[in-house]
Amino acid sequence: MRELAVYIHIPFCDHKCIYCDFYSVTTLRNKTRFFEALKKEIDFYARKLANSYSVSTIFFGGGTPSLMEPHLIGEIIEYLNKKFNFNSPLEITLETNPGTVNPNKLKAFKKAGINRLSVGVQSFDDDDLKFLTRIHDSRTAVRTVKKAADAGFENLSVDLIFNLPNQTIKKWQKNLEIATALPVKHISAYSLIVESGTALKALINKGKVQIASTDYDAKLYLQTIEYLTNKGFAQYEVSNFAKKGFECRHNLFYWRYKDYLGLGPSAHSFIEGKRWLNYSNLTKYVEELSSNFNAIKSSETLTEKEMLEEFVMLSLRSEGLDLNLLSGKFGEDWKANNKGLLKKLEENNFARVEKNKIKLTPKGYALCDEILLNFKF
Ligand code: SF4
Repeated sequence: MRELAVYIHIPFCDHKCIYCDFYSVTTLRNKTRFFEALKKEIDFYARKLANSYSVSTIFFGGGTPSLMEPHLIGEIIEYLNKKFNFNSPLEITLETNPGTVNPNKLKAFKKAGINRLSVGVQSFDDDDLKFLTRIHDSRTAVRTVKKAADAGFENLSVDLIFNLPNQTIKKWQKNLEIATALPVKHISAYSLIVESGTALKALINKGKVQIASTDYDAKLYLQTIEYLTNKGFAQYEVSNFAKKGFECRHNLFYWRYKDYLGLGPSAHSFIEGKRWLNYSNLTKYVEELSSNFNAIKSSETLTEKEMLEEFVMLSLRSEGLDLNLLSGKFGEDWKANNKGLLKKLEENNFARVEKNKIKLTPKGYALCDEILLNFKF
């Protein structure tokens, strides 16, 4: 049996945050229809995959999955378990927003089978949170993490965003200090990305918001790596840091180029070199599931060259590029074609080669996208 990671997109939010381009709706009107459709989608893929795949991780993302009643999430876990074999240990993550849970609800999520929480804190500074139009304040964020630990969640992660407008080095440092003083085992720290079509993008276009330079962004990023590494959070991907043994197993499926199944509107899947994407519209998703038993909007089969590019990119952005694995999958050409560049990266301290594995240094991670553009495929 091959291992499978399952992502489930819960497309409901309290309101739309100004920077967000994830698919979600701000009404719960179609919640029941959504969960019915989701079960049909599980049926569809169980018929195709359950004989050859067993599930190792489940990730409830969104949207705001923690807005849902725990029994609804529990029913989906049970339903999946009826249709697929589950591996042990099984990691089941729930993205959880402060302001949507209380101690009883957290306990109920635990009882429903969730064993990892990814808490969408984004910042411990109230001005930042107002700017991001989040529903919570800093106190609620701290309390949510502590209550989650009290409810028995050991595998706890927080998300933070840096390079927000007016975010000084000192202010960002304070965020890192608060996060690491909490009982968390994993921290995701992302630079603010201005996505097109968002309210933030419109504000920037009108000149009402200014974003700091890329140099300043890189400075905050290097500060993050240094601080978190010193606090015992090892960097295992461009934006992700974990205490030993608490790396997100679900995300490792993506970065190790392994198979994953995405369910729900806007979810992506990647299985045996084929990638597909669901409709990013709840009504369409529900209709398609009723008539076609799936909600696939488009699909593509990757060429050998595309797979090689993605494998190199994902490996370098995360745990490093295993040259033996690369040769086994794609032959020797890439190594030969990029020998000169790899040597230069090592000489300039952008990468290290250890045990036949190329790993970016913090300086290399900061310039990861530029470095990737220079490889020959
Ligand atoms: S809560 Fe999360 S998913 Fe929902 S709008 Fe805000 S950032 Fe986007």
